[in-house]
Amino acid sequence: MTETLEFQSEARQLLQLMIHSIYSNKDVFLRELISNASDALDKLRLETYRDKDLQADTADLHVEIETDQENRTLTVRDNGIGMTRDEVVSLIGTIAKSGTAELLRKLRETQDAAVSADLIGQFGVGFYSSFMVADRVVLTTRRAGAEEGVRWESDGEGTYTIEPAADLPQGTAVTLHLKPEDAEDNLHDYSSPAKVREIVKRYSDFITWPIRMAGEESTETVNSMKALWARPAAEVTEDELTEFYRHVSHDWSPPLETVRLQAEGTFEYQALLFIPSRAPFDLFVREAKRGVQLYVRRVFIMDDCEALVPEYLRFVKGVVDAQDLSLNVSREILQQDRQIELIRRRLVKKVLSTVKSLEQEKYRTFWTEFGKVVKEGLVSDVSNRDAILDICSFDSTHDTEKPTTLREYVERMKDGQEHIYYLTGESRSSIENSPHMEAFQAKGYEVLVLTDPIDEMWVESVTGFEGKQFQSVAKGQVDLDEKADDAERKEEFAPLLTWMASALAETVKEVRLSSRLTTSPACIVGDEHDMTPTLEKMYRAMGQ
Ligand code: ADP
Ligand code: MG
Repeated sequence: MTETLEFQSEARQLLQLMIHSIYSNKDVFLRELISNASDALDKLRLETYRDKDLQADTADLHVEIETDQENRTLTVRDNGIGMTRDEVVSLIGTIAKSGTAELLRKLRETQDAAVSADLIGQFGVGFYSSFMVADRVVLTTRRAGAEEGVRWESDGEGTYTIEPAADLPQGTAVTLHLKPEDAEDNLHDYSSPAKVREIVKRYSDFITWPIRMAGEESTETVNSMKALWARPAAEVTEDELTEFYRHVSHDWSPPLETVRLQAEGTFEYQALLFIPSRAPFDLFVREAKRGVQLYVRRVFIMDDCEALVPEYLRFVKGVVDAQDLSLNVSREILQQDRQIELIRRRLVKKVLSTVKSLEQEKYRTFWTEFGKVVKEGLVSDVSNRDAILDICSFDSTHDTEKPTTLREYVERMKDGQEHIYYLTGESRSSIENSPHMEAFQAKGYEVLVLTDPIDEMWVESVTGFEGKQFQSVAKGQVDLDEKADDAERKEEFAPLLTWMASALAETVKEVRLSSRLTTSPACIVGDEHDMTPTLEKMYRAMGQ
């Protein structure tokens, strides 16, 4: 029985964008299909480790590409895990990625094709990119171990058909019926074997499964299959790294920086990590995945290996390949594995030191995109606190345009200034207009302007930087060296203070003379250990 089903509405909108191809480089559709095929082979191998009873054929796992110039089709086939009918409906018919709604809203708001392409690229549209080059796509698939298969077909215009199919081989085949307008254009003739071979070499060379095509006489493997992380750094080109990054991250833009680690000896592993050039849409979604994959001796073990990266570095993407772990490791075991713990510690240090050595402009991009997340580490990762502080930037009264590092702040500190002054608040303007700032500004002291919610948290737990303590300008006694006339002033104002203290007994702990104001007559300050108003508000908002 053939059913006709509708794409979920977000999926429909993305498909429309693909059909009208806002992305200038259409070649990338093939990379996406091969990437899915490769994932499917990884998943199958993994599942056969876990489930010894699975009736799967793993004898010759590979990807196969067929071109038919006469009928203008291109087929990408794998003998991997395959999909059940329900999986096809949920994985291909809908987009479950968090951030989809947000992305679509942004896309609707822009008229600029380049901006749209850019947004789509960040999001990565995977399978749907087939519709950039095809006006009809047929997907047949049989889940490993299942009897019956499924046939799916769509022109991308709102609906698809799905029906049971007999006699399918294990795995998935995606056949693209190529758009007629690309036929004469030899730049985009994706039914041409030479063209296809070129794209595979360019985008998918590092895929660790053989990608085969029929040659003149025999079938040949097009890709070199070399694991990039195991090759000497000098041998790997920038382009190869970028394509590999795209494969592991599903991000279409190039990475900001590459981080490599090679450990030899008793406990051997390689890591090839990337810092993206842009924050993903789901950076602050709690259940969002982290980006580091674990391999054991070249065999893919898991995505999203949370044991390898702390949460505050969740934007880091890439691969860790460990030599001495069992292929059967589970997430639970990894959490307690000593080797993994050691790798994690080294990765963290290496990522932090890489950020520290970024040149100015890259660092600035990094901080704009990931600063908020990195600051979480000031609270959660006590052992690396100094290294994290060292790569942090903060807005400051010194320069309204450009944030400052702590090192720069300390260099500018005035003679006799002992503390690093800061004020937390909801916005820059509320901080600048705060009466607490008056004396500091009048005296020319620089104050850090902290407006992220996370700032409220770390200032509570971080004590200092390079021996200089952090001091809120809104808290406790701030000594701005005006002791000379203290005694005299105290005496003069004593009656007023006593009167005020009794009049305000219900609301304040203490009334005292202050040297921190220049134009305002009075201000309320918190006790050294009180919560700030913003933190109080946050807790109240959380219902505490
Ligand atoms: P992504 O790869 O980023 O998840 P895609 O749009 O490329 O997004 O694919 C959506 C999902 O469809 C995949 O996550 C996978 O579960 C499934 N899928 C796609 N192609 C295949 C395939 N060849 N074999 C098995 N599953 C596939
Ligand atoms: Mg994909």
